[in-house]
Amino acid sequence: MVIGLEVHAQVISNSKLFSGADTTFGAEPNSQVSLVDAAFPGMLPVINGKCVEQAVRTGLGLKAQINMVSVFDRKNYFYADLPAGYQISQFTQPIVGKGEILLDLADGSGCTVGITRLHLEQDAGKSMHDQSPTETYVDLNRAGVALMEIVSEPDMRSGEEAGAYLKKLRAILRYLGTCDGNMEEGSMRCDVNLSMRRVGDTKLGTRCEIKNVNSIRFVQQAIDYESVRQVEILEDGGVIKQETRLWDTTKGETRSMRSKEEAHDYRYFPDPDLLPLKLEAAFVEAIKKTLPELPDDKKARFIKDYGLTPYDASVLVAERASADFFEKVAKGRDGKLAANWVTGEFFGALNKQGKTIETSPVSADALGGLVDLIADQTLSNRLAKEVFEAMLESGKPAAQIVEEKGLRQVTDTGAIEKAIDAILAANADKVAEYRGGKDKLFAFFIGQVMKSTGGKANPAMLNELLKKKLNG
Ligand code: ADP
Ligand code: MG
Repeated sequence: MVIGLEVHAQVISNSKLFSGADTTFGAEPNSQVSLVDAAFPGMLPVINGKCVEQAVRTGLGLKAQINMVSVFDRKNYFYADLPAGYQISQFTQPIVGKGEILLDLADGSGCTVGITRLHLEQDAGKSMHDQSPTETYVDLNRAGVALMEIVSEPDMRSGEEAGAYLKKLRAILRYLGTCDGNMEEGSMRCDVNLSMRRVGDTKLGTRCEIKNVNSIRFVQQAIDYESVRQVEILEDGGVIKQETRLWDTTKGETRSMRSKEEAHDYRYFPDPDLLPLKLEAAFVEAIKKTLPELPDDKKARFIKDYGLTPYDASVLVAERASADFFEKVAKGRDGKLAANWVTGEFFGALNKQGKTIETSPVSADALGGLVDLIADQTLSNRLAKEVFEAMLESGKPAAQIVEEKGLRQVTDTGAIEKAIDAILAANADKVAEYRGGKDKLFAFFIGQVMKSTGGKANPAMLNELLKKKLNG
């Protein structure tokens, strides 16, 4: 299968692309509409500098070509939620050209997907079909809000790659602060273009476009369904009709919406109300200076500075908050140990409790305190898990829990030896069996000594001392 994605990402900006109206999500319908957004006759659009800055910032984050001159065009079509009868978009000269995104795949490998372009355009209003049984209402709050349309090359070959692309794109947008990436609220929407071809074919097959899929999971489900549908048609000797389809979330299928529209159907032409957008080199340079460290660079640094595996590093950098949290835990400590605890017990506990890093009951400093007690041998891994459980419940620091519960591990050789001796004496028959060749009993002795010490014997020392006693 061959997949190319078009993502509409709502630009983080207090006001709209060509008007001063507010963009806050969830406001009373039609309370954030200027005369420009409602397309009153004679109203003129004025470009919002913040949105231009955000588009350039995103272009830089995608390692893309920034076009110093770009042009706004009218894309003409009729719909109730588009009062002007056209959308202002960019067609032949977008603000951002070719770039690329590196995908992190589940098996630890990576691959690069080309970005074809990024352009700025207006969002449309919303038709509300659920307010009345007989009428459709129109909410223009969204009309005129700035979108970045980010178009990929047809470089993806599976649903997994499409999912990885969306996750990575969303992470980059969030790191940059140019889009909140919230697919449920519709601030990031995805059109999936998919075609099939035989292995070895170099020519692309005819594609279908599935519009406005609103979660990564649905994108993957739509791809699974649509690829099977196309294969069945092709293997029956049929041809794929190029068309626009929709994803029905309740039925779990794609359905035809309309035959594919062509660019000429929209009668694109440069918007006579807007001059070509010319950027100055200093403007782009200034934005470049404020770029944060992005996920790929952070991942490389985590691997190099903390000795993490590529997999752990990509899990940690997926969200800026988890990367920052990890760095606080790891600072001045064993990075690998810190990563194990953050990605393992800590993320597991947050998941279970339905919490996020922001609402976590255990702070980075507190988790760091626990890691210290493992590093200095006060706690074995097993005891540390017990202490961590108590930290989640009580919010107390690890050291305090260790003192209160007496959970310090026993690292005194004499004490461990004494415990071993007692167990061996009480199980003379089993000792004889072990010495007679029944190796499996080793685990039994470990278990018994652990039990008699309340789980507190240092596992490595116990292992070594027991071996010595039994074999030597
Ligand atoms: P349109 O605006 O008509 O949808 P675009 O040129 O913007 O067309 O391309 C839409 C998307 O379709 C791009 O992401 C591109 O990679 C993808 N695409 C183009 N041809 C194919 C194909 N044969 N199979 C799968 N995806 C394709
Ligand atoms: Mg398209």
